[in-house]
Amino acid sequence: MKSVLVINAGSSSLKYQLIDIEDKKVIAKGLCERIGIADSLMSYKPHDGDKVEIKRDMKNHEEAIALVLDTLVDAKIGVIPDMSGIAAVGHRVVHGGEKFADSVLIDDGVIEAIRECIPLGPLHNPANLMGIEGCRAVMPDVPMVAVFDTAFGQSMEPKTYMYGLPYEAYEKYGIRRYGFHGTSHRYVTGRALALLNKPDAKVISCHLGNGSSVSCSIGGRCVDTSMGLTPLEGLPMGTRCGSIDPAIVPYLMDRAGMSAKEVDAYMNKKSGMLGISGVSSDFRDLWAAANEGVERAKLALSMFALAVKKYIGAYAAEMNGVDAIVFTAGVGENDRGVRELVLKGLDYLGAEADFEYNLSCPRGVETDISQNHSKVKIFVIPTDEEMAIANDTAALAL
Ligand code: AMP
Repeated sequence: MKSVLVINAGSSSLKYQLIDIEDKKVIAKGLCERIGIADSLMSYKPHDGDKVEIKRDMKNHEEAIALVLDTLVDAKIGVIPDMSGIAAVGHRVVHGGEKFADSVLIDDGVIEAIRECIPLGPLHNPANLMGIEGCRAVMPDVPMVAVFDTAFGQSMEPKTYMYGLPYEAYEKYGIRRYGFHGTSHRYVTGRALALLNKPDAKVISCHLGNGSSVSCSIGGRCVDTSMGLTPLEGLPMGTRCGSIDPAIVPYLMDRAGMSAKEVDAYMNKKSGMLGISGVSSDFRDLWAAANEGVERAKLALSMFALAVKKYIGAYAAEMNGVDAIVFTAGVGENDRGVRELVLKGLDYLGAEADFEYNLSCPRGVETDISQNHSKVKIFVIPTDEEMAIANDTAALAL
């Protein structure tokens, strides 16, 4: 068996999955939490066993990865006899700037380039680097691959990725649309092309979760995407405002006396579904409140669905048509009510949903919720970023 370890490192957390690359199966997965903080712990779930929680001091990412490896080869609860079972490691890296249009084998130069992208991804890239360097320290001879959230968006044309600011903002500061959720958009788009059996199809993928973005592509190459320089642009999200009039920022600073940092937190953490509804950022809570008659919860849900619908219309225009619309991620895969709101009134586009089936279709599997005669197919496709990372890692490293 050849397996790939997939690592998604946050500043104090580290998600991991060990994937059998031949059978495309998850052998074990889990999460290290509170790294570098008191009471750190790791969850671990082998494919054929119960989830366990291991309380262990993890001072840094290196110690977290060492604990992951010890557990994977543990005589009692481990899933592989020894470390030679891990053929390569794939790392999720959030921001690759304009340096990376594809996944890449990690060497010193790549690490340096990821470091140079820290100003663009100040929250995520340092954590991603800690994951990479932690792995290097404990498994120096195992090849590693970086898979970038921004890589999918690198095929956009300048007319799509430029903002209407002075050109020097792009040249001096790298201010442009990069797009995020790229690994997810690429994965579900690839699945849609396979389901359509049409390699050059036009696809609009709606990654709707706590963070949400819409992307469109032709033949698997990204044409446009709703997130921008940062993941704040585009749809209103769980706690992010999405696209707003940029003049609101100085207006808030003047009127409310907020600092730039405070406005940033206001837009990223207090806005979106949470800020509009005053109830929650979680769509399940929003529906529960809406069903009890809470008007602002209804408003938040309808604002969200309208924003998704507007992107679908814009992207169909941009591509001169669309063959398939895909729903994915926590809300896209599970929230039938949101899908219904988005899909009502798209028949002008040739996208005709089977609304009855939309309400009863199984969860967790790929399914077609369009009517048989619908010109545009509408798919629900569970995203699997870890599998996409594992596949890229295997292709480059094995
Ligand atoms: P993600 O960021 O992809 O993990 O998605 C998280 C979002 O998915 C949260 O807002 C959840 O409310 C939403 N979600 C998860 N399961 C369901 C469900 N069964 N029905 C509605 N929304 C759900």
